[in-house]
This record gives sequence, C-alpha cells and structure tokens, in this order.
Amino acid sequence: ITILGLESSCDDTAAAVVRRDGQGAHILSSVVYGQTELHSAFGGVVPEIAARAHAEKIDLCVTEALERAGLALADVDAVAVTAGPGLIGGVLAGVMCAKGIAAATGLPLVGVNHLAGHALTPRLTDGVGFPYLILLVSGGHCQYLIAKGPEEFTRLGGTIDDAPGEAFDKAARLLGLPQPGGPSVEVEAKMGDPRHFRFPRPLLDRDDCNLSFSGLKTALLRTRDQIVAEKGGLTRADRADLCAGFQQAIVDVLAEKTRRALRIYLAENPADPVLAVAGGVAANGAIRAGLETVCTEMGVRFTAPPLKLCTDNAAMIAYAGIERFAKGERDDLTLMARPRWPLDNTSPALLGGGK
Ligand code: ATP
Ligand code: FE
Repeated sequence: ITILGLESSCDDTAAAVVRRDGQGAHILSSVVYGQTELHSAFGGVVPEIAARAHAEKIDLCVTEALERAGLALADVDAVAVTAGPGLIGGVLAGVMCAKGIAAATGLPLVGVNHLAGHALTPRLTDGVGFPYLILLVSGGHCQYLIAKGPEEFTRLGGTIDDAPGEAFDKAARLLGLPQPGGPSVEVEAKMGDPRHFRFPRPLLDRDDCNLSFSGLKTALLRTRDQIVAEKGGLTRADRADLCAGFQQAIVDVLAEKTRRALRIYLAENPADPVLAVAGGVAANGAIRAGLETVCTEMGVRFTAPPLKLCTDNAAMIAYAGIERFAKGERDDLTLMARPRWPLDNTSPALLGGGK
C-alpha cells in the first residue's frame, strides 16, 4: 500500500508518501513547510495567517512530496488527510486539497485524526505491536493512551490545563528566551542547578494519570518577579537555575504519572510491554531520560521516534491512513474538517482532562 498524506492542522504545511510492504513501512518522502517566521512577531500561531499560508503552500508540498518519492498520483493507492483536531481554517485547507485530488483522480480518500497520527508513529518508526502505552506530549496536548488498534485508544488521563510544550513556551517568554520555548529552556537548564529554585509538582497527591502545568508557569512568574524585586534584574545564572528548576518539575511530574499509567497498562499483561512517546516535547533530553529510568525500573521497553517524526509531519498521517485503508476504511467527498476530535469515546470532560 502506498499513500500520499497531507497535514495542515497547526503551523506546519506538510505532505508525504509512505509505503507499507512485507518488510514494513517506508517513508518515500516527507516535506514540511514551517510557518514559524510568519507568526514570530505575534508570540503565537495566528489562525488566519496559518490558514492562508496552508492554502498557499499545500499544492507545492504535494508536488514536492511526489517528486521526491519519484512517483505520480497514478502510483499511489489513496490520499490521506488530517481531518482534525486543529485550527479549523488550516484543517480545511488540507481537506479541500485532498478532496480535489480525490475528485480529479478517483483516488480513495482517507480522513485521519491528527492525534492518531502522532499515536501510531511508533509503529511507523519501530514496528511496535499493539497494545502499547503512549504518552503524547506536545505544544497542544498531553495525554496517556493505551493503543489497542489503529483506531482503538483508551485514554488514561491527561492535562487539565496547559500542555507541557505550552508551559515551556510561556516560560521562555517570561524569561526573555526565544521561541519555541522548549529547546531554549532546555539549553539554559543544562547550565543551571535544578535544586536552586523549587517549583511545585501539581496533582502528585492524586492517584490518577491527570496532570496540570499552569500553576508551574505562575510559580515561575512569581519567582522571577521576586528575584527582580530583590536584585533589580536576572543574572545569567538566575535564568539558568530557573530553567533547570522549571524543567525538573516537569520531568518529575511526567515520570511519576508515567509510573502510574504503566501500572494500569501492565495490569492488562501485554506480551511485549512498550512505552512510546510522541509530540514535540519528546525531543527534550531530560524528559526522555526521566521516562527511560521509569521504564528500566518497571521492565518496559522505551521507544521515541526521531525528532522529525515527533513534531507535526505528514508521514505520520500517510501511515495512519495506511492503517485505516488496510482495514478497508475510506471516506467520501462529504468528509468534514473537525476542530475537536477526541481520540477515544470517553469524554475528556468526564475524566477531568481537557486536552
Ligand atoms: P499539537 O501537535 O499537539 O497540535 P504542536 O504542533 O504545537 O501541538 P509539536 O509541533 O508536536 O506541537 O511540538 C511543539 C512543542 O514542543 C512546542 O511547544 C515546543 O516548545 C516543544 N518542544 C520542542 N522541543 C522541545 C524540547 N527540547 N524541550 C521541551 N519542549 C520542546
Ligand atoms: Fe501535532
């Protein structure tokens, strides 16, 4: 099966061609056009600007993905596209493009949940078998899921407010560091002492898999203002210590909640237990190390996709499309773009997690 995938749900326009054969899955091409410069002056993604940029770039992405794969549209079996969740204008740009291709060529159309794309990435990169536990941790999401099938996910819990990537980005803004905040905070943290400033570890007293990160940001703001009030400004060392303390709090919370999620997952007696992480925050070395330690401790294999496949891309969408297509599932031209689309049937509201 060879599938062309399209992604445009946030601030990356992407197209990719992925093939699955007897040997496994192969990424034949993966093209990503970022929009960071377009939004940098605004301190966040501007939906209108994003939608327009997606609409402008998506055709070019498709052409380039096919060209790099050395294929024509006639050589692919279907077109897969992110149909949500995400910024609706962006999702629409991708869905319209995919529908156009499907209508013009007669190729089958496969709508993909963006989160399923992230959650299935360990199968694309590592051939991981079901069921596995996945921690999805990005700029917009943070949740634990047991992946039982291509469209079968059980949500164990997640953040009740901010996602960690969002927290890193806000922390960077508070400290005058460049965006995206995750990488800049991580670099600073390497030079700091994580014990110098102590930040809260929210919800650790609750025996569930829910997390909270908004208080951490408030604590950082307060500590920063206190230092500024006392000394008139932040030194290089203060900033490094703040980053190190802030990052350590996130590492500790994720490690402890992962331990709890693993206990629930292991109770189902998986044959080859695996914890996978996906999402942009999985790029963080300290977070990876923390999760790896927990896995070693509990006899679970740890896997993290390469960075390029952790952040938004279309290869994961093409691959998730292959999994649906292989099951005989297809969409038609009535496929809708959905701003919200939870991965499992359990309402996040009932579980106390919003993202
Ligand atoms: P989503 O995919 O959930 O809609 P998104 O597209 O914003 O959200 P990603 O592209 O997966 O998320 O990841 C971007 C986020 O990852 C940013 O918030 C960024 O700060 C964070 N991030 C990237 N590298 C690191 C790092 N080394 N440490 C911590 N966070 C990081
Ligand atoms: Fe994403």
